[in-house]
Amino acid sequence: MPYRAPVLDFRFLFDHVVGLDQVTATDRFAEADRDVTDAILTEAGRMCEDVLAPLQRMGDMHPARLENGVVRTSPGFSEGYKAIAEGGWVSTSSDPEFGGMGLPMTLTTAVNEMMSSACLSLQLNPLMTQGQIEALEHHASDEIKAIYLPKLISGEWCGTMNLTEPQAGSDVGALRSKAEPNGDGTYSVTGQKIYISWGDNDFSENVCHLVLARLPDGVPGTKGISLFLVPKRIPDADGNAGVANALKVVSLEHKVGLHGSPTAVMQYDGATGWLIGPEHGGMAAMFTMMNNARLGVGVQGIGAAEGAYQHALAYAEERKQGRAMVEGGTGTILDHADVRRMLTTMKAETFAARSIALANAVAIDMGTATGDADWKARAALLTPITKAFGTETGIAVAELGVQVHGGMGYIEETGAAQYFRDARVTAIYEGTNGIQAMDLVGRKMMDGGEAAYRLLDEIEANAEAARATHPDLAQEVWNAAETLRETTEWLVAQEMNDRFAGAVPYLRAFARVLGGHFHLKAALAEGQGKRTALAGFYITRLLPEHAGLCAHARAGAEGLYALSPEDLAA
Ligand SMILES: Cc1cc2nc3c(=O)[nH]c(=O)nc-3n(C[C@H](O)[C@H](O)[C@H](O)COP(=O)(O)OP(=O)(O)OC[C@H]3O[C@@H](n4cnc5c(N)ncnc54)[C@H](O)[C@@H]3O)c2cc1C
Repeated sequence: MPYRAPVLDFRFLFDHVVGLDQVTATDRFAEADRDVTDAILTEAGRMCEDVLAPLQRMGDMHPARLENGVVRTSPGFSEGYKAIAEGGWVSTSSDPEFGGMGLPMTLTTAVNEMMSSACLSLQLNPLMTQGQIEALEHHASDEIKAIYLPKLISGEWCGTMNLTEPQAGSDVGALRSKAEPNGDGTYSVTGQKIYISWGDNDFSENVCHLVLARLPDGVPGTKGISLFLVPKRIPDADGNAGVANALKVVSLEHKVGLHGSPTAVMQYDGATGWLIGPEHGGMAAMFTMMNNARLGVGVQGIGAAEGAYQHALAYAEERKQGRAMVEGGTGTILDHADVRRMLTTMKAETFAARSIALANAVAIDMGTATGDADWKARAALLTPITKAFGTETGIAVAELGVQVHGGMGYIEETGAAQYFRDARVTAIYEGTNGIQAMDLVGRKMMDGGEAAYRLLDEIEANAEAARATHPDLAQEVWNAAETLRETTEWLVAQEMNDRFAGAVPYLRAFARVLGGHFHLKAALAEGQGKRTALAGFYITRLLPEHAGLCAHARAGAEGLYALSPEDLAA
């Protein structure tokens, strides 16, 4: 499907909205100057437009399949993956010592978004590998790093992440997979994992699985879980993919969307694995990968939103139907007020979600570069918001894209529905959005709301600065921030189940306010023009939703249990 990489939008956001200059001012990221970032955006954008976008429909129409125990990927995916690997796009942020580019996560986030718009099901493969690389960089021994990181970073080998089992989904601590020490520093890993994205492929020399399992003396629950690296082919003395390990793909799932991504049931039968991180410290190590992937999955949603928007706009520019109530229009459905509402909502929401994700990445980069605790807390606070709001935006925008197409949106040939079907899972995997919201109001508010208040202070200071040029918009954003502050104060004073009851509306209210803030920043930087008009649309029509969401967030848990299970069934 045709796709145009929004390179200029990224440049504007870097320069005027999320402050990439703070990142490039650090020693750690000093090399990521304007020329480098422009070159990366342009080159990655071109690869997405020319190589990946034509594969999107291929993956949907010709799903990955299992043939005699071997996964056969969709037509063209092998060449597409090669282009990703050769361009270095698996590893823009990875450690240069092992062949990575060492660039800021902010830039990787932009590249990941473009790849997601172009072909989401293929992009999921390098996303998994990126998370594995980060987990190994932080937790693996030097020996493991030396063998695996260069191969993963170059894209010769791919990485996966194995948490889920039939009885252990959101409740990872219920897993039953086992690991026994072999006495030579390796372990025998046995168990079944389900829903493993890109559990195998026919284009990389090796597939390296990060598997959560319990050692014989591991206590029940998450505290007794350890993490193991279990390669499909065991590296030989020279570090090349050697003999086959005792693992296999049992079957592939038939899914609503994301057909090009093989989702595997994996069986491990005493497979040789290496411990990553300390014994029983698996969850901490896995969280490195999961946090990376949570930002990445939020960005998948934003990529789907951008793709769906471009697709719907192109259709609306051509489709003629009825006469609109405006003078001098285009003669197409674009002239109708309701079609304008849909398209402008799609554009405004995508901008809001993209800004949140990039601000999240800037906070990660600043935490990495400076070690500053406030930046780390900012990154931790924003991660569940990016994941949940980015994916909700992907689904909602893609759904509007179907509606803009009318009946043609429901006909598969147009490809409009594919964005919706592909994006749907992003709200489920990597921790459902409900779990993300609970993380926000639980773990991320253990500081009594301090990180949230610091962010709200910034939002209100920016609104104050905007009063001179954009008084009405500034007032709305300031008011919304104040309502969110009061809701946060209420929330942190509650018992945990009352927080959980309001977690999803609270997270969405937070995202709404952040969206208003970033739109206002764009308007402030521009003065007057199309970005200011978009900010006006968002702040007057979408931001008001925050008030209802905050009221919902403050309603507490009691009412949710007012209907008994029998009442629900009646
Ligand atoms: C296409 C696809 C690809 C995937 N890829 C991978 C992968 O690569 N690796 C991997 O390990 N897993 C993968 N998964 C699994 C995915 O992460 C899980 O499906 C997800 O974590 C939810 O687990 P579950 O399906 O068991 O749902 P459940 O945990 O049974 O959840 C059902 C519902 O209950 C809610 N719920 C559950 N517990 C709580 C709670 N404590 N509080 C409030 N609400 C709760 C959930 O939010 C959800 O709405 C994939 C799944 C799919 C569909």
